Amino acid sequence: MTERVLEIAGADIRYGDFQAVFGVDLHIDVGETVAVIGANGAGKSTLLNSIAGLVPMHAGTMLFHGRTLAGVPAYDRVTSGIALVPEGRHIFASLTVEENLRIGAHTRRPGPWNIERVVAAFPLLDKLLARQPAGLSGGERQALAIARGLMANPDLLLLDEASLGLAPIVVRQVYDAIPEIRAEGTTVLVVEQDVNQALAISDRFYCMLEGAISLTGDTATADRAAITEAYFGVEGMTNDEVA
Ligand code: ATP
Repeated sequence: MTERVLEIAGADIRYGDFQAVFGVDLHIDVGETVAVIGANGAGKSTLLNSIAGLVPMHAGTMLFHGRTLAGVPAYDRVTSGIALVPEGRHIFASLTVEENLRIGAHTRRPGPWNIERVVAAFPLLDKLLARQPAGLSGGERQALAIARGLMANPDLLLLDEASLGLAPIVVRQVYDAIPEIRAEGTTVLVVEQDVNQALAISDRFYCMLEGAISLTGDTATADRAAITEAYFGVEGMTNDEVA
């Protein structure tokens, strides 16, 4: 039987009076790569931040390896194996690239990821280890942020908008590491506005529209017209119009 890493049922998430996420059901099994797609403001980051414990859930349940995450603070979620690579990357400017990576290992969780392995997954980091992050390109910073997340040896890696603001060729360099990450058995939940990129790397997808899941399915059999409709909430747009 497949082991469930994460199971969310009926998640409502609010910022004060404003409800951003409505009744979301989502699950991820060990070793899967799952994408959450959706337009700007659909609630993707809110959901991801809630899994990481940064935004509280108002209603619903969230189980990690069968145990509730209710009341578990963000830092305990990291030590129990949930690593978030947030949108915006949050690199420590005063540390070298290698020091940034080593900070990721502060949880001392056992697992396959160490400096050598993350550099093998992201070869562009190899020459940068002694550098300060200030001069890094957007793609290099993103690679560093993901590699740092892996250094925590997470059971579940949460990637928020890894492609945001990057040129297509750089996006490819970043996402090229996904097969290596999967090969190590690390389960990945990716949030993306870029549908093509998300579908290219995931086994299953959830599409969010205005805070709710509008469509879910296997990537291999995904119906592009249905995704377009679920993404924008309108009929009759062409696939080219999907971000
Ligand atoms: P994006 O790709 O732009 O990040 P998203 O799908 O991740 O979009 P969220 O960032 O989760 O969407 O935002 C969902 C809704 O919640 C939006 O209407 C947004 O304005 C609102 N929101 C997000 N963060 C906050 C906050 N800290 N306080 C109040 N409202 C927020």
